[in-house]
Amino acid sequence: MIDALPPQGVPADQVLAELRGMRDADLPTHGGRLFAYVYDPAKAGLDELAMSAYALSAHVNGLDPTAFPSLLATENALVAAAARVLGAGPGTDAPDVVGSVTSGGTESLILAVKTARDAHPEITSPRLVAPSTAHAAFAKAAHYLGVALDLVPVDPETFTPDPAAVAAAITADTVLVACSAPSYAQGVVDPVEQIAAIAAERGVRCHVDACFGGWALPFLRRVGVAVPAFDFSLPGVTSMSVDLHKYAYTPKGVSVLLHRDAGLRRPQYFAFADWPGYTMVNPVISSTRSGGPIAAAFATLRHVGDEGYLELARQTRDAVTGLAKAVSEVDGLRLLAPADFTVVCLTSDDPGLDLFVLADELAARGWHTQPQLPYEGIPASIHLTVTASVLPQVPQFGPALAESAAAARAHGPVELPAELLAMAAHLPPDQLTADMVAGLADMFGLTGGEPGAAPRMAVVNAVLAAAPPRLRERLLVEFVSLLQRPSW
Ligand SMILES: *Cc1c(COP(=O)(O)O)cnc(C)c1O
Repeated sequence: MIDALPPQGVPADQVLAELRGMRDADLPTHGGRLFAYVYDPAKAGLDELAMSAYALSAHVNGLDPTAFPSLLATENALVAAAARVLGAGPGTDAPDVVGSVTSGGTESLILAVKTARDAHPEITSPRLVAPSTAHAAFAKAAHYLGVALDLVPVDPETFTPDPAAVAAAITADTVLVACSAPSYAQGVVDPVEQIAAIAAERGVRCHVDACFGGWALPFLRRVGVAVPAFDFSLPGVTSMSVDLHKYAYTPKGVSVLLHRDAGLRRPQYFAFADWPGYTMVNPVISSTRSGGPIAAAFATLRHVGDEGYLELARQTRDAVTGLAKAVSEVDGLRLLAPADFTVVCLTSDDPGLDLFVLADELAARGWHTQPQLPYEGIPASIHLTVTASVLPQVPQFGPALAESAAAARAHGPVELPAELLAMAAHLPPDQLTADMVAGLADMFGLTGGEPGAAPRMAVVNAVLAAAPPRLRERLLVEFVSLLQRPSW
């Protein structure tokens, strides 16, 4: 194990070489063959620019905008840019929009829920209404903030909720109605226009989670893709979130949370003067926060520019079209949802073609996709987040998919021992112990083994798929807790 605190400091070159060595085990962040986690525009020189900007401001502290005006200026510029992209700002119907830069989509959503909750101190049991396809970060926000979550089921064909069902879920305690544009799992846009109108009529705030594709949709629309209304042009939309570290292609750690006006934003702030230290006023969850990601985002947006994002949207659209075509050409596979925006989500109609095995076969050939477990009538699927860097890879994807599908058929579906299946289906979550999970992890080769050798994940996914959500959660917590141990 590498000691993070050696007795004597290690020379800089060596430390960097060690880090590079460790990075070699990671999935490839560039090259257009990793369809989750990373967003790669494949634009020459952009990484270098972002890293230089990051380094310039890494030690700047967002704690106090008056001490570091560069941070305030770059944040205000990012907020203005995001607002403009999302139909707000001067000359629009949302001229008074304001916002904050957060560390990511989850923080933006937690703050959107907190702001809505704290706007109603008289509601003692606040509730949040969201489609079941809304990002898991809403569940996290609800959990952290003591807000009850009312999930509205989605149609199994369109993956969007019936607006009437959203209306029916709103009660006197509802502080926020949320929807996605687009959702992560299937990449579809909810009926935002209807949902926002319903929320407005009931006097409830409406948050549009555009974390994922909010930066892509407006540019896709301008290159000819049919994008329904989803932004501040709809009067009922009171807040929106958009992650710059997704389709704005900035380094990780930057999202923007927007409110239609400053009055709506006010409960977002936390100020405290009742202690003997500095008076604290925080717009976001962190207090001390690095200027690095913000400077890097500013540099990225300014360098790519509006026309650059249009071109990246064009490349993304063409890549999505190409991948979707490749899927439709493989027997037994089909698109689960229309590949209208930035996601290709595929499923298998052939019981002999196990999607989890297919994902492993693709990974063995260097294509890293994201398996999604079956959920409430929605079958298992493979998710591809498509970015501009994928376009040059499209011609190789079709043959790789066909070959992987043939290999998956030859391998056959995962068959779990009956005992394991029964356990997954019926074990009460609170009876799962750390030892049981350690045993499973050993059995599946998830611990030990060759460093960097990817385990076959199909069996793990099959176990998770057989388990209900609460047990899935417990299995994952125990497993990650096993991984997160000090490296003595
Ligand atoms: C990614 C994502 C989030 C959460 O964002 P993080 O940056 O991972 O915290 C929220 N909503 C949607 C739709 C997303 O795709």
